[in-house]
Amino acid sequence: LGERLQATMDRIKSKGKVTESDVKVMMREVRLALLEADVNFKVVKQFVNQVKERALGSDVMQSLTPGQQVIKIVKEELTELMGGENQKITLANKPPTVIMMVGLQGAGKTTTAGKLALHLRKNFNKKPMLVAGDIYRPAAIDQLETVGRQIDVPVFSLGDQVKPQQIVTEAMDHAKAEHLDTVIIDTAGRLHIDENLMNELKDIKKIADPHEIMLVVDAMTGQDAVNVAESFNELLDITGVTLTKLDGDTRGGAALSIRSVTEKPIKFVGMSEKMDGLEAFHPDRMAQRILGMGDVLSIIEKAQANVDETDQKELEKKIKDQSFTLDDFLAQMDQVKDLGPLDELLKMMPGANKIKGLDKMQMSGKEIDHVQAIIRSMTMQERENPSVINASRKKRIARGSGRSLQEVNRLLKQFNEMKKMMKQMTSQKGKKKNPFGNM
Ligand code: GDP
Ligand code: MG
Repeated sequence: LGERLQATMDRIKSKGKVTESDVKVMMREVRLALLEADVNFKVVKQFVNQVKERALGSDVMQSLTPGQQVIKIVKEELTELMGGENQKITLANKPPTVIMMVGLQGAGKTTTAGKLALHLRKNFNKKPMLVAGDIYRPAAIDQLETVGRQIDVPVFSLGDQVKPQQIVTEAMDHAKAEHLDTVIIDTAGRLHIDENLMNELKDIKKIADPHEIMLVVDAMTGQDAVNVAESFNELLDITGVTLTKLDGDTRGGAALSIRSVTEKPIKFVGMSEKMDGLEAFHPDRMAQRILGMGDVLSIIEKAQANVDETDQKELEKKIKDQSFTLDDFLAQMDQVKDLGPLDELLKMMPGANKIKGLDKMQMSGKEIDHVQAIIRSMTMQERENPSVINASRKKRIARGSGRSLQEVNRLLKQFNEMKKMMKQMTSQKGKKKNPFGNM
């Protein structure tokens, strides 16, 4: 293929047609992106099937930018899968609001308890109290007291010799007596889920009757996070999730898995170790992050380039056997219509840029519409073989398209010259005179 024609074709991107197998290629990339982001494979499978179904819908396949349409669907479905919108923390109608922090050791319960206290005081004008319910981890109580001092929030503690159930019972009374309207209970974690811990947590739940059971999960743990979330949810019926350590380099696929496995909303994300490092969870932003939007986009664009090539070959063939019709012309215009400077249109048409005078021609969007209207007013036979268009047909076409007879004539003349040019192009194959180089 000649360099110039090649260059011309390169510009005809964002094609109109995508086949089922193109969508499959795209979905393979999406699938990989999700797996790389640590999304559970079962979730990925289900998700990809769902998206595929939508992507194969006719409006997508026939859109001018199917690649982008697919991306849009992927993003929309991911967002929906993670709950659609941000869900706020549950507050009690009648104080105190009780929030119970649960999760494995090191997930970020203690840190998040402090962050939440600060968040509720700052944004909801609450008077929170932290409860030191982890009596097992060495220095756990000290850690919570340090947190409390940092944000100037009282910490209720009975040391590490009193059972957590007792601590929580007394803490509830204390909060009422002190008119503290928010009680945040820090609990113990284990390296793995075990029965003793779960029983203790169940007891605390019964005693405190929390409005929010906030599961804290470390985003960096990836796949494991799913099992953890599933177990905690089964045993405690959690009400929300905070995903911590998203400031790390994880893509955060755990968010998607957790949400689809537990069907409980992720409400917050931890973005730093600091007390102000808590942010509301936004499903759409997370979708972007999980997909590594840039990566996937470029891969899908590549997949599209292959699609373009198929169409390009078809076009090339049509030019060679001189079967390029007005109907093809119409389709070409559709494709370049949204590509920017519209006076470039004719230059993009194979051969057209060599036709005398055409390069001077400026085509506005309106003019393209006019040309298209004229072609659309032709019968298929006329589009395939314009030589049948006699004077009376011309009149009919002009009337049908609402354009003047001169415009119809001009279009037919241009098209004829273009065909002539294409003929020259192919018959001069290999010769130096060929303006398109080696074909
Ligand atoms: P717990 O065992 O569940 O109470 O976890 P901690 O609250 O003690 O947190 C464990 C470690 O993770 C601590 O070093 C925290 O500073 C750190 N951490 C917690 N949340 C975040 C976060 O969102 N980002 C980062 N970078 N570190 C965090
Ligand atoms: Mg802790």
